[in-house]
Amino acid sequence: MAHNSNCDPQALQRRAALERYHILDSERDQAFDDINWLAATICDTPFAVINFIDTDRQWFKSEIGFGITQTELDVSICAHAILQPGLFIVPDTLKDRRFDSNPLVTGDPQLRFYAGALLETPDGIALGTLCVLDKRPRRLSEKQKQSLLKLASQVMQLLALYQTNESQKLMLQELDKTRAQLRVLAATDPLTGLLNRRAFNERLQQESARIKRSKQTSALLMADLDHFKAINDRFGHSAGDQAIKIFADICRRVFRQSDVICRWGGEEFMVLLPDTEKHQAGRVADRLHQVLSVTEIPGTADDIHLTISVGILALEPTRDIDSALLQVDQLLYDAKHSGRNITVLN
Ligand code: GH3
Ligand code: MG
Ligand code: MG
Repeated sequence: MAHNSNCDPQALQRRAALERYHILDSERDQAFDDINWLAATICDTPFAVINFIDTDRQWFKSEIGFGITQTELDVSICAHAILQPGLFIVPDTLKDRRFDSNPLVTGDPQLRFYAGALLETPDGIALGTLCVLDKRPRRLSEKQKQSLLKLASQVMQLLALYQTNESQKLMLQELDKTRAQLRVLAATDPLTGLLNRRAFNERLQQESARIKRSKQTSALLMADLDHFKAINDRFGHSAGDQAIKIFADICRRVFRQSDVICRWGGEEFMVLLPDTEKHQAGRVADRLHQVLSVTEIPGTADDIHLTISVGILALEPTRDIDSALLQVDQLLYDAKHSGRNITVLN
Protein backbone atom coordinates (compact mmCIF):
# COMPACT_ATOMS: atom_id res chain seq x y z
CA MET A 1 0.00 0.00 0.00
CA ALA A 2 1.15 3.52 -0.67
CA HIS A 3 1.25 5.85 2.27
CA ASN A 4 -1.01 8.82 2.43
CA SER A 5 1.45 11.59 1.65
CA ASN A 6 -0.42 14.61 3.01
CA CYS A 7 2.50 16.14 4.91
CA ASP A 8 5.32 14.82 2.78
CA PRO A 9 7.36 17.76 1.37
CA GLN A 10 7.63 15.95 -1.96
CA ALA A 11 3.84 15.67 -2.08
CA LEU A 12 3.49 19.38 -1.39
CA GLN A 13 6.03 20.22 -4.08
CA ARG A 14 4.10 17.98 -6.49
CA ARG A 15 0.84 19.65 -5.53
CA ALA A 16 2.35 23.09 -6.21
CA ALA A 17 3.58 21.94 -9.63
CA LEU A 18 0.14 20.48 -10.45
CA GLU A 19 -1.40 23.83 -9.57
CA ARG A 20 0.99 25.62 -11.90
CA TYR A 21 -0.23 23.37 -14.72
CA HIS A 22 -3.92 23.90 -13.75
CA ILE A 23 -4.45 20.23 -14.52
CA LEU A 24 -6.34 18.79 -11.53
CA ASP A 25 -10.11 18.59 -12.15
CA SER A 26 -9.68 20.12 -15.59
CA GLU A 27 -12.12 19.28 -18.38
CA ARG A 28 -11.92 16.10 -20.37
CA ASP A 29 -9.64 16.64 -23.35
CA GLN A 30 -9.44 14.83 -26.68
CA ALA A 31 -5.66 15.31 -27.00
CA PHE A 32 -5.02 13.49 -23.70
CA ASP A 33 -7.64 10.86 -24.57
CA ASP A 34 -5.85 10.21 -27.87
CA ILE A 35 -2.48 9.67 -26.18
CA ASN A 36 -4.12 7.37 -23.66
CA TRP A 37 -5.83 5.42 -26.44
CA LEU A 38 -2.49 4.99 -28.20
CA ALA A 39 -0.95 3.65 -24.95
CA ALA A 40 -3.73 1.06 -24.51
CA THR A 41 -3.63 0.09 -28.18
CA ILE A 42 0.16 -0.21 -28.48
CA CYS A 43 0.44 -2.15 -25.21
CA ASP A 44 -2.76 -4.09 -26.00
CA THR A 45 -4.31 -3.60 -22.56
CA PRO A 46 -7.96 -3.13 -21.51
CA PHE A 47 -6.97 -0.35 -19.08
CA ALA A 48 -4.97 2.82 -19.57
CA VAL A 49 -4.81 5.95 -17.40
CA ILE A 50 -3.18 9.36 -17.45
CA ASN A 51 -2.93 9.80 -13.74
CA PHE A 52 -1.86 12.66 -11.47
CA ILE A 53 -1.07 12.15 -7.80
CA ASP A 54 -2.63 14.81 -5.60
CA THR A 55 -1.91 15.00 -1.84
CA ASP A 56 -4.86 12.79 -0.92
CA ARG A 57 -6.09 11.18 -4.15
CA GLN A 58 -5.06 10.10 -7.60
CA TRP A 59 -6.94 11.94 -10.33
CA PHE A 60 -7.38 10.64 -13.88
CA LYS A 61 -7.04 13.14 -16.70
CA SER A 62 -7.95 10.36 -19.10
CA GLU A 63 -8.95 6.74 -18.45
CA ILE A 64 -9.90 3.67 -20.38
CA GLY A 65 -11.54 0.70 -18.66
CA PHE A 66 -12.21 2.10 -15.16
CA GLY A 67 -15.16 4.43 -15.62
CA ILE A 68 -14.09 6.61 -12.69
CA THR A 69 -11.98 9.77 -12.51
CA GLN A 70 -10.27 9.41 -9.12
CA THR A 71 -9.49 7.04 -6.28
CA GLU A 72 -8.06 7.20 -2.77
CA LEU A 73 -4.30 7.24 -2.64
CA ASP A 74 -3.94 4.08 -0.55
CA VAL A 75 -5.12 1.86 -3.43
CA SER A 76 -2.90 3.62 -5.95
CA ILE A 77 -0.18 1.64 -7.66
CA CYS A 78 0.93 4.83 -9.44
CA ALA A 79 1.81 6.38 -6.07
CA HIS A 80 4.57 3.74 -5.97
CA ALA A 81 5.49 4.27 -9.61
CA ILE A 82 6.21 7.97 -9.11
CA LEU A 83 8.86 7.16 -6.53
CA GLN A 84 11.24 5.96 -9.23
CA PRO A 85 12.40 7.23 -12.62
CA GLY A 86 11.31 5.89 -16.01
CA LEU A 87 9.11 2.81 -16.15
CA PHE A 88 7.63 0.99 -13.19
CA ILE A 89 6.44 -2.49 -14.11
CA VAL A 90 4.63 -5.04 -11.94
CA PRO A 91 4.38 -8.20 -14.09
CA ASP A 92 2.09 -9.95 -11.59
CA THR A 93 0.51 -8.01 -8.73
CA LEU A 94 -0.33 -11.19 -6.79
CA LYS A 95 3.37 -12.01 -6.66
CA ASP A 96 4.29 -8.59 -5.29
CA ARG A 97 4.00 -8.02 -1.52
CA ARG A 98 3.23 -4.35 -2.06
CA PHE A 99 0.10 -5.08 -4.08
CA ASP A 100 -1.10 -8.59 -3.29
CA SER A 101 -3.69 -7.31 -0.83
CA ASN A 102 -4.69 -4.18 -2.77
CA PRO A 103 -8.51 -4.23 -3.11
CA LEU A 104 -8.22 -3.39 -6.83
CA VAL A 105 -6.14 -6.57 -7.13
CA THR A 106 -8.02 -8.90 -4.79
CA GLY A 107 -11.42 -7.52 -5.79
CA ASP A 108 -12.80 -5.88 -8.93
CA PRO A 109 -11.38 -5.08 -11.41
CA GLN A 110 -8.77 -7.67 -10.36
CA LEU A 111 -5.73 -5.92 -11.74
CA ARG A 112 -2.80 -8.31 -12.26
CA PHE A 113 -0.47 -6.29 -14.47
CA TYR A 114 0.77 -2.72 -14.22
CA ALA A 115 3.21 -0.68 -16.31
CA GLY A 116 3.54 3.05 -15.63
CA ALA A 117 5.77 5.65 -17.28
CA LEU A 118 6.64 8.60 -15.08
CA LEU A 119 5.13 12.01 -15.90
CA GLU A 120 7.90 14.32 -14.79
CA THR A 121 8.34 18.10 -15.07
CA PRO A 122 11.50 19.44 -16.76
CA ASP A 123 12.86 20.27 -13.29
CA GLY A 124 12.37 16.70 -12.11
CA ILE A 125 9.12 16.80 -10.14
CA ALA A 126 7.13 13.57 -10.53
CA LEU A 127 3.47 14.43 -11.14
CA GLY A 128 1.93 11.07 -11.98
CA THR A 129 2.09 8.35 -14.60
CA LEU A 130 0.82 7.27 -17.94
CA CYS A 131 0.01 3.66 -17.13
CA VAL A 132 -1.49 0.58 -18.74
CA LEU A 133 -3.03 -2.29 -16.76
CA ASP A 134 -4.39 -5.75 -17.42
CA LYS A 135 -6.39 -8.48 -15.68
CA ARG A 136 -3.70 -11.04 -16.37
CA PRO A 137 0.03 -11.17 -15.69
CA ARG A 138 1.91 -9.67 -18.64
CA ARG A 139 5.19 -8.51 -20.09
CA LEU A 140 5.83 -5.62 -22.45
CA SER A 141 8.07 -5.83 -25.50
CA GLU A 142 10.95 -3.39 -25.72
CA LYS A 143 9.03 -1.38 -28.36
CA GLN A 144 5.97 -1.19 -26.13
CA LYS A 145 8.11 0.06 -23.23
CA GLN A 146 9.75 2.70 -25.44
CA SER A 147 6.36 3.74 -26.79
CA LEU A 148 4.96 4.15 -23.30
CA LEU A 149 7.92 6.37 -22.34
CA LYS A 150 7.53 8.49 -25.48
CA LEU A 151 3.79 8.86 -24.96
CA ALA A 152 4.46 9.96 -21.36
CA SER A 153 6.84 12.58 -22.75
CA GLN A 154 4.06 13.72 -25.14
CA VAL A 155 1.71 14.15 -22.16
CA MET A 156 4.27 16.44 -20.50
CA GLN A 157 4.77 18.44 -23.71
CA LEU A 158 1.02 18.87 -23.98
CA LEU A 159 0.90 20.09 -20.38
CA ALA A 160 3.69 22.59 -21.04
CA LEU A 161 1.90 23.85 -24.15
CA TYR A 162 -1.36 24.31 -22.27
CA GLN A 163 0.48 26.13 -19.49
CA THR A 164 2.04 28.52 -22.02
CA ASN A 165 -1.37 29.10 -23.62
CA GLU A 166 -2.91 29.75 -20.24
CA SER A 167 -0.27 32.28 -19.19
CA GLN A 168 -0.52 33.99 -22.58
CA LYS A 169 -4.27 34.22 -22.12
CA LEU A 170 -3.75 35.77 -18.69
CA MET A 171 -1.20 38.22 -20.11
CA LEU A 172 -3.64 39.25 -22.83
CA GLN A 173 -6.37 39.77 -20.24
CA GLU A 174 -3.98 41.94 -18.21
CA LEU A 175 -3.11 43.87 -21.35
CA ASP A 176 -6.80 44.46 -22.13
CA LYS A 177 -7.36 45.68 -18.60
CA THR A 178 -4.37 48.03 -18.81
CA ARG A 179 -5.56 49.33 -22.18
CA ALA A 180 -9.00 50.04 -20.74
CA GLN A 181 -7.41 51.88 -17.78
CA LEU A 182 -5.20 53.86 -20.15
CA ARG A 183 -8.21 54.80 -22.26
CA VAL A 184 -9.93 56.15 -19.15
CA LEU A 185 -6.78 57.96 -18.02
CA ALA A 186 -6.25 59.49 -21.46
CA ALA A 187 -9.78 60.90 -21.35
CA THR A 188 -9.66 62.17 -17.76
CA ASP A 189 -8.52 65.42 -16.21
CA PRO A 190 -6.27 64.34 -13.32
CA LEU A 191 -7.25 67.09 -10.85
CA THR A 192 -11.03 66.78 -11.08
CA GLY A 193 -11.64 63.36 -12.64
CA LEU A 194 -13.86 65.08 -15.23
CA LEU A 195 -13.45 64.50 -18.95
CA ASN A 196 -10.57 66.43 -20.46
CA ARG A 197 -10.87 68.69 -23.46
CA ARG A 198 -9.79 66.10 -26.02
CA ALA A 199 -12.33 63.52 -24.84
CA PHE A 200 -15.05 66.18 -24.65
CA ASN A 201 -14.36 67.23 -28.24
CA GLU A 202 -14.89 63.62 -29.33
CA ARG A 203 -18.21 63.50 -27.47
CA LEU A 204 -19.19 66.79 -29.03
CA GLN A 205 -18.53 65.40 -32.53
CA GLN A 206 -20.73 62.40 -31.78
CA GLU A 207 -23.44 64.60 -30.30
CA SER A 208 -23.33 66.94 -33.27
CA ALA A 209 -23.90 64.01 -35.64
CA ARG A 210 -26.74 62.74 -33.44
CA ILE A 211 -28.41 66.17 -33.32
CA LYS A 212 -28.28 66.40 -37.12
CA ARG A 213 -30.03 63.01 -37.38
CA SER A 214 -32.60 63.46 -34.61
CA LYS A 215 -33.26 67.19 -35.17
CA GLN A 216 -33.25 67.56 -31.38
CA THR A 217 -31.73 70.61 -29.73
CA SER A 218 -29.05 70.23 -27.11
CA ALA A 219 -27.39 72.91 -25.02
CA LEU A 220 -23.76 73.82 -24.61
CA LEU A 221 -22.78 75.54 -21.36
CA MET A 222 -19.44 77.18 -20.59
CA ALA A 223 -18.53 78.32 -17.08
CA ASP A 224 -15.46 80.21 -15.86
CA LEU A 225 -14.60 80.83 -12.22
CA ASP A 226 -14.63 84.55 -11.47
CA HIS A 227 -11.53 86.39 -10.23
CA PHE A 228 -9.81 83.10 -9.72
CA LYS A 229 -6.36 84.56 -9.96
CA ALA A 230 -7.15 86.51 -6.79
CA ILE A 231 -8.00 83.30 -4.92
CA ASN A 232 -4.64 81.84 -5.87
CA ASP A 233 -2.86 85.04 -4.99
CA ARG A 234 -4.53 85.39 -1.58
CA PHE A 235 -4.74 81.79 -0.41
CA GLY A 236 -2.18 79.90 -2.46
CA HIS A 237 -2.30 77.51 -5.37
CA SER A 238 -3.40 74.49 -3.36
CA ALA A 239 -6.46 76.32 -2.02
CA GLY A 240 -7.12 77.20 -5.68
CA ASP A 241 -6.85 73.54 -6.65
CA GLN A 242 -9.23 72.64 -3.84
CA ALA A 243 -11.74 75.20 -5.15
CA ILE A 244 -11.55 73.74 -8.66
CA LYS A 245 -12.19 70.25 -7.26
CA ILE A 246 -15.15 71.47 -5.22
CA PHE A 247 -16.66 73.11 -8.26
CA ALA A 248 -16.22 69.87 -10.23
CA ASP A 249 -18.03 67.95 -7.46
CA ILE A 250 -20.87 70.47 -7.48
CA CYS A 251 -21.18 70.02 -11.25
CA ARG A 252 -21.37 66.25 -10.80
CA ARG A 253 -24.24 66.75 -8.34
CA VAL A 254 -26.15 69.45 -10.21
CA PHE A 255 -26.03 68.14 -13.77
CA ARG A 256 -27.86 65.02 -14.94
CA GLN A 257 -26.15 61.69 -15.42
CA SER A 258 -26.56 62.06 -19.18
CA ASP A 259 -24.87 65.48 -19.27
CA VAL A 260 -21.22 65.50 -20.33
CA ILE A 261 -19.03 67.62 -18.06
CA CYS A 262 -15.49 68.61 -18.99
CA ARG A 263 -12.66 70.62 -17.53
CA TRP A 264 -11.98 72.67 -20.62
CA GLY A 265 -8.77 74.08 -19.17
CA GLY A 266 -7.58 76.07 -16.11
CA GLU A 267 -10.70 77.30 -14.35
CA GLU A 268 -12.98 76.87 -17.36
CA PHE A 269 -15.59 74.16 -17.71
CA MET A 270 -17.74 73.05 -20.62
CA VAL A 271 -20.93 71.00 -20.32
CA LEU A 272 -22.99 69.35 -23.02
CA LEU A 273 -26.65 68.86 -22.09
CA PRO A 274 -28.23 66.52 -24.64
CA ASP A 275 -31.87 67.06 -25.61
CA THR A 276 -32.10 70.19 -23.47
CA GLU A 277 -33.59 73.59 -24.33
CA LYS A 278 -31.39 76.57 -23.46
CA HIS A 279 -33.89 77.81 -20.88
CA GLN A 280 -33.80 74.47 -19.11
CA ALA A 281 -30.01 74.72 -19.16
CA GLY A 282 -30.37 78.25 -17.75
CA ARG A 283 -32.24 76.81 -14.76
CA VAL A 284 -29.42 74.36 -14.16
CA ALA A 285 -26.96 77.28 -14.27
CA ASP A 286 -29.10 79.14 -11.71
CA ARG A 287 -28.80 76.13 -9.47
CA LEU A 288 -24.98 76.23 -9.88
CA HIS A 289 -24.89 79.90 -8.87
CA GLN A 290 -27.10 79.14 -5.89
CA VAL A 291 -25.09 76.14 -4.61
CA LEU A 292 -21.83 78.07 -4.99
CA SER A 293 -23.24 80.97 -2.96
CA VAL A 294 -23.56 78.69 0.08
CA THR A 295 -20.42 76.59 -0.40
CA GLU A 296 -17.35 77.31 1.66
CA ILE A 297 -13.90 76.65 0.25
CA PRO A 298 -11.49 75.11 2.78
CA GLY A 299 -8.21 76.99 2.98
CA THR A 300 -9.82 80.35 2.14
CA ALA A 301 -11.54 82.92 4.35
CA ASP A 302 -15.01 82.11 5.73
CA ASP A 303 -16.69 84.85 3.73
CA ILE A 304 -15.19 83.74 0.41
CA HIS A 305 -17.57 82.07 -2.00
CA LEU A 306 -16.81 81.10 -5.55
CA THR A 307 -18.81 82.68 -8.31
CA ILE A 308 -18.95 81.77 -11.97
CA SER A 309 -19.84 83.44 -15.19
CA VAL A 310 -21.76 81.27 -17.62
CA GLY A 311 -22.57 81.27 -21.32
CA ILE A 312 -25.28 79.00 -22.71
CA LEU A 313 -25.84 78.25 -26.37
CA ALA A 314 -28.55 76.22 -28.07
CA LEU A 315 -26.83 73.63 -30.26
CA GLU A 316 -29.05 73.74 -33.34
CA PRO A 317 -28.76 70.91 -35.90
CA THR A 318 -27.43 73.41 -38.45
CA ARG A 319 -24.63 74.78 -36.26
CA ASP A 320 -21.11 73.44 -36.74
CA ILE A 321 -18.98 72.68 -33.71
CA ASP A 322 -16.22 75.22 -34.21
CA SER A 323 -18.60 78.12 -34.55
CA ALA A 324 -20.60 76.83 -31.55
CA LEU A 325 -17.47 76.82 -29.39
CA LEU A 326 -16.53 80.33 -30.51
CA GLN A 327 -20.02 81.57 -29.83
CA VAL A 328 -20.40 80.06 -26.36
CA ASP A 329 -17.02 81.59 -25.47
CA GLN A 330 -18.37 84.94 -26.66
CA LEU A 331 -21.48 84.55 -24.46
CA LEU A 332 -19.22 83.83 -21.49
CA TYR A 333 -17.20 86.94 -22.35
CA ASP A 334 -20.45 88.92 -22.37
CA ALA A 335 -21.27 87.54 -18.90
CA LYS A 336 -17.86 88.66 -17.62
CA HIS A 337 -18.41 92.12 -19.08
CA SER A 338 -21.85 92.38 -17.56
CA GLY A 339 -20.25 92.18 -14.12
CA ARG A 340 -19.68 88.40 -13.58
CA ASN A 341 -21.64 85.90 -11.45
CA ILE A 342 -24.37 85.72 -14.10
CA THR A 343 -25.50 83.56 -17.01
CA VAL A 344 -25.92 84.81 -20.55
CA LEU A 345 -28.04 82.84 -23.05
CA ASN A 346 -27.91 83.35 -26.81
P1 GH3 B 1 -11.99 86.29 -14.59
O1 GH3 B 1 -13.06 86.55 -13.63
O2 GH3 B 1 -11.89 87.28 -15.65
O3 GH3 B 1 -12.10 84.90 -15.15
O4 GH3 B 1 -10.66 86.36 -13.74
P2 GH3 B 1 -9.67 85.22 -13.44
O5 GH3 B 1 -8.70 85.70 -12.43
O6 GH3 B 1 -10.41 83.98 -13.08
O7 GH3 B 1 -9.06 84.97 -14.84
P3 GH3 B 1 -7.60 84.78 -15.35
O8 GH3 B 1 -7.74 84.09 -16.68
O9 GH3 B 1 -6.85 86.07 -15.31
O10 GH3 B 1 -6.94 83.77 -14.34
C1 GH3 B 1 -7.27 82.44 -14.27
C2 GH3 B 1 -6.44 81.88 -13.17
O11 GH3 B 1 -6.72 80.52 -12.94
C3 GH3 B 1 -4.97 81.98 -13.48
C4 GH3 B 1 -4.42 80.64 -13.15
O12 GH3 B 1 -3.30 80.72 -12.28
C5 GH3 B 1 -5.53 79.95 -12.43
N1 GH3 B 1 -5.55 78.55 -12.68
C6 GH3 B 1 -5.71 77.93 -13.85
N2 GH3 B 1 -5.64 76.58 -13.66
C7 GH3 B 1 -5.41 76.37 -12.35
C8 GH3 B 1 -5.22 75.22 -11.55
O13 GH3 B 1 -5.24 74.09 -12.01
N3 GH3 B 1 -5.02 75.40 -10.22
C9 GH3 B 1 -4.98 76.63 -9.67
N4 GH3 B 1 -4.81 76.73 -8.37
N5 GH3 B 1 -5.15 77.73 -10.41
C10 GH3 B 1 -5.36 77.62 -11.73
MG1 MG C 1 -11.73 83.08 -14.44
MG1 MG D 1 -10.45 81.68 -17.49
